[in-house]
Amino acid sequence: MNWSALAEQVLAGHRLTAREALAVLTSADEDLLDVLAAAYRVRRHWFGDRVSLNFLLNAKSGLCGEDCAYCAQSRISRAKIARYPLVDAATVWQAAEAAAAHHARTFCWAVSGRVPSDMELDALATLVPEIKARFGFRVCFSVGLLSLEQARRLKACGVDRINHNLNTSRRFYPKICTTHTYQQRLNTLRNVRRAGLEICSGGIVGMGETPADVVALALELSRLEVEALPVNFLLPLAGTPLAGFQVLTPRYCLKVLAMFRLTNPKTELRIAAGREVHLGPLQPLGLFAANSMFVGGYLTAKGRPAEEDYQMLEALGFSRDVDW
Ligand code: SF4
Repeated sequence: MNWSALAEQVLAGHRLTAREALAVLTSADEDLLDVLAAAYRVRRHWFGDRVSLNFLLNAKSGLCGEDCAYCAQSRISRAKIARYPLVDAATVWQAAEAAAAHHARTFCWAVSGRVPSDMELDALATLVPEIKARFGFRVCFSVGLLSLEQARRLKACGVDRINHNLNTSRRFYPKICTTHTYQQRLNTLRNVRRAGLEICSGGIVGMGETPADVVALALELSRLEVEALPVNFLLPLAGTPLAGFQVLTPRYCLKVLAMFRLTNPKTELRIAAGREVHLGPLQPLGLFAANSMFVGGYLTAKGRPAEEDYQMLEALGFSRDVDW
């Protein structure tokens, strides 16, 4: 495969076929820099040297009745994590201060559970206008399955974006969750779009799926034209059904990021949970494909000190999307 020519085609509007996307994922290790260079060409065209930083608040943790195999917050998880109901307003404000201190462009609020209650949505939604006015960042909610009416309510109070990950392919989905379906997740994304909200939807790689499943996910997200796409690398946490499951290599993770970039050229592509563990010393290379990352940790797992991330950006010559 001529990777440079493929990048040119993508910039000219070509949409990768499943066969081409699979070729990226299964490319030889000696082609890795060429594959990344192709991804970087596309990334640079749309995003220059900018990197968006995102800060995550776990606004309600654990206590979920679903059985997602990768999740420490599920009803079948015995992971030792903090479990608490919806946080109060003071905690949200505190997290907003932390998000600003971390130079975040987007402040993400996550609530565990299958669906949010109206009380939970109202409690959070009423804080959005003031927090946006005070800090200026964009607000993204991750609150489970949403009806059209709920999505419209969030749009009306100033929420910019909804995160709802498809996680994997339709084929593999029943292997990682039996309490809701892939179609229900797609329905939520349809409601989000119809309400006029931006979509943040991505996946988790390394759960036992095949490369073809990862390609199917990437092409589905491309069809949906999602505005943001977080790529998580499975953290096989003790106490979850996938504990100890480890199939990823840093080089494969880079190919995954390159494939998501080439299939979703204009999308904010985020390296999400697992980057420290699975990319290891190759983390900086990931940003030649991705243009976004979390700082300050994840839902139930710690990241590394933000200072190390800022040093990495400086060494790469990349700039934060918003400076404070
Ligand atoms: S991913 Fe969401 S729905 Fe699934 S178990 Fe975790 S909190 Fe519940």
